[in-house]
Amino acid sequence: MPLFSKKIRTRFAPSPTGYMHVGNLRSALYEYLFAKQNKGIFFIRLEDTDQSREVAGAAENILKVLKIAGIEPDEGICLKEGKLAEKGHFGPYTQSQRLNLYQKYANQLVKAGLAYYCFCTEERLELLRKDQEAAKLPTRYDFHCRSLLPEEVQKRLDQGDKYVIRMKVPENREIEFEDMVRGKIKVNSREIDDQIILKADGFPTYHLAHAVDDHLMETTHVIRGEEWLPSTPKHILLFEALGWEPPIYAHLPMILNTDRTKLSKRQGDVAVEDYLAKGYLPEALLNFISLLGWNPGTEKELFTLDELIKEFSFAKVHKAGAVFDVKKLDWMNGEYIKKLENKIFVQAAMPFFEKFLTDNNFTIPAYLEANFDKALLLAQQRISRLAEVGEGIRFLLTENLGYDPAKLVWKKSDAAKAKEILNLLINDISGYAETDFTKENFENKLKDFITRNNLANGDVLWPLRVALTGADKSPAPFEVAEILGKEATLSRLRQAIEKL
Ligand code: GLU
Repeated sequence: MPLFSKKIRTRFAPSPTGYMHVGNLRSALYEYLFAKQNKGIFFIRLEDTDQSREVAGAAENILKVLKIAGIEPDEGICLKEGKLAEKGHFGPYTQSQRLNLYQKYANQLVKAGLAYYCFCTEERLELLRKDQEAAKLPTRYDFHCRSLLPEEVQKRLDQGDKYVIRMKVPENREIEFEDMVRGKIKVNSREIDDQIILKADGFPTYHLAHAVDDHLMETTHVIRGEEWLPSTPKHILLFEALGWEPPIYAHLPMILNTDRTKLSKRQGDVAVEDYLAKGYLPEALLNFISLLGWNPGTEKELFTLDELIKEFSFAKVHKAGAVFDVKKLDWMNGEYIKKLENKIFVQAAMPFFEKFLTDNNFTIPAYLEANFDKALLLAQQRISRLAEVGEGIRFLLTENLGYDPAKLVWKKSDAAKAKEILNLLINDISGYAETDFTKENFENKLKDFITRNNLANGDVLWPLRVALTGADKSPAPFEVAEILGKEATLSRLRQAIEKL
């Protein structure tokens, strides 16, 4: 038995006003997951009714981010060769191309006595607001134009007075709806303002556009951020006034900073693009975002998109705010990076590496040219973001390692001994063939050297590691020697001795 009798249709309805907020990506993801797990349709609608806030290129950018994240719409606005296009039978899917529809339904509500023309000027509304604030009353419209006589209305329309259309909120009605996340919600209509539904420029407000579009586009489930919860009773009233069945709502919990304030640009990035630019993998970011509000009920944390489609459920979406913990994201991203196929890692890391080279004025040393991919792979197991790849192998790019010579001395040893061992090593390594500079061969040679000289592993491996990388936490010296080759390895050892 299907859970829902109608074909499930969910939509992502971005306003093209700037970057893609991580909260928007979460809404899109949950909408997508819910549609897919119910064999439904996920579509995209562009909500561009606030033209003053529109940013050129924002819609294309949002769609591009979704595509990178693997969330493709079945219907609605999409990208064709980088340009906005649309597909499906419920269009146009861009609100600014649907103005006649909003006007038609606004007028229908006026005719039915469920909405009214309001001619109040900005100045009057401003005064009203100030008076209410001074009297510590909630700021709201005072119904002034509700009682205008029809002749008066006609006269003002005829003389071309500017007007908006407001919904007439019924008095003292309990409005009830069932939210998929929050359960039953009850609000008295006393708390609802006579909201503007059509603005003076003929554009609808969000409220009317939402009701008209989600009805005509047959949206069954409206999944959106908690900030829309206070508006939902108005929406229910609008659906009712228009004689339509409202969709089922799910309001997703707020996303919070670690100090539990609302996620804000001031404390970190909120744009998905910024995370991608820092080298978070789209799959990791999506996985991380899936857990902002949803909890699988098990210990499992790593999910592919297909697994999310199977396992996601609104029954496990919680009401409490979800903390955006960058440390956890870093961990998760590191796990995804480690698991990338080598070739894919190199491909993905390359642009970040190139940027690092330019930013730091590095050129690629000769010994690296032949071993370029191997060098990048040294970083793969150790970084949590692709942008760290350059820093992760900086020691391969410069001769000047600039470490404190004291680092060369293993804790059970002293400087004189370190120097002696480095000298012995140089002698030994000078006799190696070029073919000994592979990870395995070099490791075997070293083991042999250690046994022959009756030394402890740490006596040799510690100063060697520091001499080759300048760091005590770094890839194993055999891996580094393989990339450096004989000449650069020896030169770094000589440098180390000079330092001691
Ligand atoms: N355009 C609205 C926004 O970007 C959509 C809200 C909704 O999903 O209903 O927040």
